[in-house]
Amino acid sequence: MKSPLKGSDTTYDVLGIGFGPSNLALAIAIEEHNAGLPPEERLNALFLERQPGFGWHRGMLIDDATMQVSFLKDLVTLRNPTSDFSFLCFLRERGRLIDFLNQKTLFPLRVEFHEYFAWAAERVRHLVAYEHVVAAVDPVRDESGTVTHFDVVCRDPERPGETVSYRARDISVAVGLEPHVPPGVELSERIWHNSQLLPRVTELAAEGTPVNRAVVLGAGQSAAETVDYLHRSFPDAEVCAVFAKYGYTPADDSPFANRIFDPEAVDVYFVAPSEVKQSLFDYHRSTNYSVVDMELIEALYATAYQEKVTGHERLRFLNVSRIRDVVPRDDGSLDIAVEFLPTGEQQVLSADVLVHATGYRPRDLTSLLGEAAKVCLRDDEDALRVSRDHRVETAQGVTAGIYLQGGTEHTHGLTSTLLSTTAIRAGEIHRSLVSRRVASV
Ligand SMILES: Cc1cc2nc3c(=O)[nH]c(=O)nc-3n(C[C@H](O)[C@H](O)[C@H](O)COP(=O)(O)OP(=O)(O)OC[C@H]3O[C@@H](n4cnc5c(N)ncnc54)[C@H](O)[C@@H]3O)c2cc1C
Repeated sequence: MKSPLKGSDTTYDVLGIGFGPSNLALAIAIEEHNAGLPPEERLNALFLERQPGFGWHRGMLIDDATMQVSFLKDLVTLRNPTSDFSFLCFLRERGRLIDFLNQKTLFPLRVEFHEYFAWAAERVRHLVAYEHVVAAVDPVRDESGTVTHFDVVCRDPERPGETVSYRARDISVAVGLEPHVPPGVELSERIWHNSQLLPRVTELAAEGTPVNRAVVLGAGQSAAETVDYLHRSFPDAEVCAVFAKYGYTPADDSPFANRIFDPEAVDVYFVAPSEVKQSLFDYHRSTNYSVVDMELIEALYATAYQEKVTGHERLRFLNVSRIRDVVPRDDGSLDIAVEFLPTGEQQVLSADVLVHATGYRPRDLTSLLGEAAKVCLRDDEDALRVSRDHRVETAQGVTAGIYLQGGTEHTHGLTSTLLSTTAIRAGEIHRSLVSRRVASV
């Protein structure tokens, strides 16, 4: 389908920056709002995405990995259970509804949920401009000096080195997280972040590069998945998991703890004083951070034990340990010095691959927003002040709005970077956009 761009002379009601699940859910809410309305009452929206097409963590679409959120927390159901953008409608269209139900699970495969997202994204394709990397956001002032709009500046996909910009009254920033590696680490052909796992493994296999040993640093879900995947992908290789903990910590997905992801929990978190916010975050970080699904922990342990029994041990856990040094060799392999922390004893592992499964961090919104960041208000900790409707509080004389999806853990809690409240949040932003449009007419 052709690009939906209507030209840079259009002034949009809202421009979305990034088109992952968060802004996709918003695009659907807008599409459903617009259906049946006369053109003058519709919200005019465009979403700018740097990738060439829809893609959700493609590098980690491991064949047997499952979602860590119920399929009922899809893009729409909690906002509008009758929406035909639901996961169930997707299944019906694919002819898999009854087969899925027979599995008796709430947790689809990650590859299947990706297919669902891509199916939904294609249905709102007319609202998206792919291959648009947003480089800056500039405030636009009227004659009185009031900031009434923003110009969103993108690298021009057709004219390298040049930019193209789009104007909107409001923007919705949902650029997700970025891979994090420890300071000083330089990624290379043999040193990866886990976000590149699948393409890198495919590349090595295509080149026929032998892998005798792979080392994985980290103890979270991505780390455990990477260990498991490398162990399966290279059946002759030794896979060493290196982490500072004694053992993997199981993710707490028990029913009471899971309520921290409820829409009401966002209300509670939002009004709580900062020390209560911090304690809620600390109490419940084991629902999401540096934890692993129990099933995967047990599967890894069972594999390691089976290898012990058969005497062919190629899955090793170097716990209470840290990587102290990595020296590349001329043949492309790596000498990795691993320290056992209790004794300080070091061993050097000769490895072909090192994967950092060392997490993700929020992207730097200040540099993304550029000049627009200067009209945003900040709290005592220098974090952006964000109102309940997900709109950044701005200085006086600014009527244009910046909505944030993600990057709001400090105001809206743990669900900020997750999928649990995506549908509800999209509904809240949509309602806020509509009320601001009505007020501005
Ligand atoms: C492997 C993995 C599995 C996960 N599984 C789950 C799960 O099961 N359940 C759950 O709740 N959460 C999960 N998460 C958390 C994850 O953050 C959310 O699933 C989800 O991706 C958040 O959606 P988003 O749209 O806010 O961000 P993202 O999905 O990260 O999307 C952001 C988009 O913005 C684009 N972008 C970034 N910068 C620019 C720019 N300058 N210009 C234009 N476009 C830009 C990116 O290309 C991307 O498409 C998982 C995370 C990972 C890494």
